[in-house]
Amino acid sequence: RAKAQGSGRWEAHRPGSTDPGSARLVLLEQLRAGLRDGELRVHYQPRMHLASGTISGVEALVRWQHPTRGLLQPAEFIDAAEESGVIRDLGAWVLTEAVEQAVRWDARSGPSGLQVAVNLSARQLADPDLVTRVAGVLARAGLPSSRLVLEITETALMSDPDGALTTLQQLRALGVLLAVDDFGTGYSSFTYLKQFPVDELKIDRSFVTGMTTDAGDRAIVASCVHLAHAMGLVAVAEGVESPGERDALLALGCDQAQGYFFSRPVPADAVPVPGGVVGV
Ligand code: C2E
Ligand code: MG
Ligand code: MG
Ligand code: MG
Repeated sequence: RAKAQGSGRWEAHRPGSTDPGSARLVLLEQLRAGLRDGELRVHYQPRMHLASGTISGVEALVRWQHPTRGLLQPAEFIDAAEESGVIRDLGAWVLTEAVEQAVRWDARSGPSGLQVAVNLSARQLADPDLVTRVAGVLARAGLPSSRLVLEITETALMSDPDGALTTLQQLRALGVLLAVDDFGTGYSSFTYLKQFPVDELKIDRSFVTGMTTDAGDRAIVASCVHLAHAMGLVAVAEGVESPGERDALLALGCDQAQGYFFSRPVPADAVPVPGGVVGV
């Protein structure tokens, strides 16, 4: 039967069957339609103050309620969206949805000061309309700009650092907060890092995961926390899954944390907004 399996490779290139290229085109066509037809969802993952154990904000994470394949995670479609440019519309939709949701939480539970973080890809960062769009979405929803955090990966920032610097300065001038996402996994240069007007470093999950068993990971997390504080930035740990990791981060003086230990990403109604029904 190994031969039959092997023949699948050949069959994949027969006209009319699904080779990887046409599968991607189908996916993109479905994604465009899904965006239009309201199949995208935003889930929110709480972010906690480590010292007090209270919620400081949420990160908006996109999902796709695919008509036949169920709820898809970003890993299944975000790269295709980025490469094709669909990320532009997708990102604009997520931004609007998350900002409007922050206003809905205020209406439900009273002003909570809860911050809402939205991820921006490299392509979104390079979009000349980005700054105007962000300003417009905030103004239309009536959300103070200081309630919005934009997360940009180290890799996206460094793909065009000079362009990024200009855009970050314009976003900063609006009053939104900026976070470096997946910190430690890219190729940041300290020359740029000290120039970027950012407010937070989000320490990548891969280091946090190893920190209770691996001295090297622990040293990296400790250094990131120190670096953040020395630069006047908030240190946020990603991917906290156990009480041991939470305790280790607290001992290192890390300010905030996010991870399955506190909560998985959940629909808006399940977010434990302060003053809301669900306690933290
Ligand atoms: P990210 O911005 O670093 O988001 C954190 C990811 O880690 C999320 O995966 C979250 O569900 C996951 N996570 C959080 N805590 C834990 C934990 O304790 N353990 C483990 N194993 N995972 C944890 P998700 O939602 O699958 O998103 C993956 C990536 O997709 C995000 O990484 C972000 O880069 C991208 N993404 C998600 N939504 C958007 C969006 O609206 N726009 C853009 N441009 N990118 C997005
Ligand atoms: Mg993020
Ligand atoms: Mg991250
Ligand atoms: Mg990530």
